[in-house]
Amino acid sequence: MSLIVVGSMAFDSIETPFGKTDRIVGGAATYIALSASNFTRPIKQISVVGGDFPKEELDDLKSRGVELEGVQIKKNEKSFFWSGRYHLDMNTRDTLETQLNVLGTFQPVVPESYQGAEFLMLGNLSPAVQLSAIEQLKQKPKLIALDTMNFWMESALPDLEKVLKQVDVLMINDSEARQLSAQYSLVKAAKEIMKMGPRFLVIKKGEHGALLFNENHVFFAPALPLEDVFDPTGAGDTFAGGFMGHLAHTRDISFENMKTAIIVGSAMASFCVEKFGATRLREITRADIDRRIQEFVELVQFDIALI
Ligand code: AMP
Repeated sequence: MSLIVVGSMAFDSIETPFGKTDRIVGGAATYIALSASNFTRPIKQISVVGGDFPKEELDDLKSRGVELEGVQIKKNEKSFFWSGRYHLDMNTRDTLETQLNVLGTFQPVVPESYQGAEFLMLGNLSPAVQLSAIEQLKQKPKLIALDTMNFWMESALPDLEKVLKQVDVLMINDSEARQLSAQYSLVKAAKEIMKMGPRFLVIKKGEHGALLFNENHVFFAPALPLEDVFDPTGAGDTFAGGFMGHLAHTRDISFENMKTAIIVGSAMASFCVEKFGATRLREITRADIDRRIQEFVELVQFDIALI
């Protein structure tokens, strides 16, 4: 029941209306692994970092059941760096700076010991890199999920279309779904996108929850109304980690079980935004997670008598 995670490991500088951080550890694969490791182990990580990436961070991931054989360390180069500033609504942000550094020439290598993994989570990266990871697997995983963004839709659409044919679940936000499908209605957008390859589509809507589509079925999970939202960075990746972690743990890829996975993902994302970077994800315990999932159940449970 192992899960391979492919994605960036990075330094981020983040500005929100509540404060500013200087170069903290982030990256999609970091958030995915921190989140998923609460549900399934080992996590088989594939990424690249520079010699500047803190050893303590790698050791911390290892202690959480994250295998790092697939993480290349380029001693004389610098790690990927991203900086962003959130607007007042915290749902939108501007990228201030992207320094690709080691990510610019990243060629993922799937170690022999990772072969046979049943679940694959492809974090937001160039579609060509995502495809290369899939192509190196000798046995097709039970489920492949992929995250992407508008940048790749604009700059690498043919590659994105190629990789979409190979994946089972696509996770994107509402504006990306509209952009990819050229449809305003998210129901129509989902139909168009599922024709491109993925059987399941998760459309994330930030503080307004997430939708799961499969054939003619749709399921909606709310986001927990939170008193304090400090930093949404990594919330999407944390969501993906919870979603895939639950599926890998249960080994059940039915639509019914994906509904639970969406709630687990939403619960994990709700922790992520409570503090800067991945701080909150490193603090929480299994008991905190169970309590949070119960809050989701109470949020949406109601009895209704039809009249
Ligand atoms: P999210 O807030 O879920 O979109 O993810 C934020 C994380 O994605 C940050 O920790 C960044 O380091 C990472 N990130 C930002 N831009 C890129 C990119 N172009 N490629 C890979 N990772 C990125």
